[in-house]
Amino acid sequence: MSEQPSIHVSDTEKRLLAGLAKIALVLRRQGWIEAGESGITPTQAQILALLWSRQSTGIGVSALAAELALTKATVSDSVSALVRKGLVQKEASAQDARAVNLRLTYKGEQAAAGSALWPETLLGTMAQLTPQEQACLLRGLVKIIRGLHEQGMIPAARMCVSCQFFQPNAYANSAQPHRCELVNASFGDRFLQIDCGYHALAPKPRQAEAWSTFVQMV
Ligand code: SF4
Repeated sequence: MSEQPSIHVSDTEKRLLAGLAKIALVLRRQGWIEAGESGITPTQAQILALLWSRQSTGIGVSALAAELALTKATVSDSVSALVRKGLVQKEASAQDARAVNLRLTYKGEQAAAGSALWPETLLGTMAQLTPQEQACLLRGLVKIIRGLHEQGMIPAARMCVSCQFFQPNAYANSAQPHRCELVNASFGDRFLQIDCGYHALAPKPRQAEAWSTFVQMV
């Protein structure tokens, strides 16, 4: 049996992981409480949250299952329950008449936009960070999410760093160094998108080039 290469983890890295684990604990526990109070399960709450971010295009069951890293059967069961509750509607896909597209109903939008999806306690703590701290945290999260995706642990996120419209450091030495070609606007790290509705996946070479520029910025 081949030995796994040992990875050196510094004390700071261990403390960061411990901190992330504590936040995950709050999210999980709060998710159960809030979802229970509103009569939806945590999986259904996850589906509502994802459909909320895809409301302009809708999404099929298979894609939904892939995004949430759940089985198609689990997602189908939860979607059926959400349809019965009047929170989700099925419609024919514009691309394929045999495929079904899922969208939130008005009632579903109200449920998804509610505090059930973002615990108020966490929203409050985010607001306590300075703009610089928020920018730094967001930049770090982008790196972590990309790293986890590269290792096949989570599905691809619709982040600026993989988008064909992203031009990192287009305005070097500016407070808003990045550019989104789509809207022709400059922005700083604090406005990096994690799940952008206008994201268009860039070809691999362009992604690699943008990533290299992005990580070299300090
Ligand atoms: S379209 Fe969205 S994801 Fe793409 S660069 Fe612009 S803001 Fe970022």
